[in-house]
Amino acid sequence: MITVDVRQRRATQMGRSDQPCGVCGSANVVAMRSHAVRRGAAWINPRFDPAPRTHDLCRDCGAKHRTENGVRV
Ligand SMILES: [Zn+2]
Repeated sequence: MITVDVRQRRATQMGRSDQPCGVCGSANVVAMRSHAVRRGAAWINPRFDPAPRTHDLCRDCGAKHRTENGVRV
């Protein structure tokens, strides 16, 4: 049996979010972009989805708010 981790994700900070944290109200929120890193068996996985995902991350309480095109969903 072979176990392969196909869903490692890498996150990149894109800058400060213009919206405060929805949990604690802090303005110390950064916009992040993350994408799956294709490796191992993912190279031959036809369902591999490398589409980047974005979220706002509160640096005070750690809350994540998923965003699409800069808008929280
Ligand atoms: Zn917060």
